[in-house]
Amino acid sequence: MRFRDRIARFMAGRNGYDAFSMFLLMAALVLLLLARLFYRSPFFAILFQLASWAALGYCIWRVLSRNTYKRQRENAWYYAKQQAVFRWFRSLKDRWQQRKEYKFFRCPSCHALLRVPRGKGKIQLTCRKCGNRFERKS
Ligand SMILES: [Zn+2]
Repeated sequence: MRFRDRIARFMAGRNGYDAFSMFLLMAALVLLLLARLFYRSPFFAILFQLASWAALGYCIWRVLSRNTYKRQRENAWYYAKQQAVFRWFRSLKDRWQQRKEYKFFRCPSCHALLRVPRGKGKIQLTCRKCGNRFERKS
């Protein structure tokens, strides 16, 4: 049997490499780099080294796992978190671009982001999400 066939047979029914595993592998590399950067303080060096091994071990375990249903659910969870992070950065970029025309506030009760035009003085705001009313200077 050729080597490639052996690998294919070994991997049959296993989860394989997915986005979450890729993230874990990258995290392991970053942690290893941090361990090298903190070589002067053994505590952090060992901490980062252990975290790196843990991430790498988890990555390998996920790739070889036969419980594909659970691994796919983990991957979906990871995608949702990744999208939330991307959305947050996009929102940050939008707020930065609109900072001269608009002011942004957080609703005190539900923490939703509200956008109001600048220079209108003291105004009454109504949250679109929860209907809470509060006053702010725009
Ligand atoms: Zn609200």
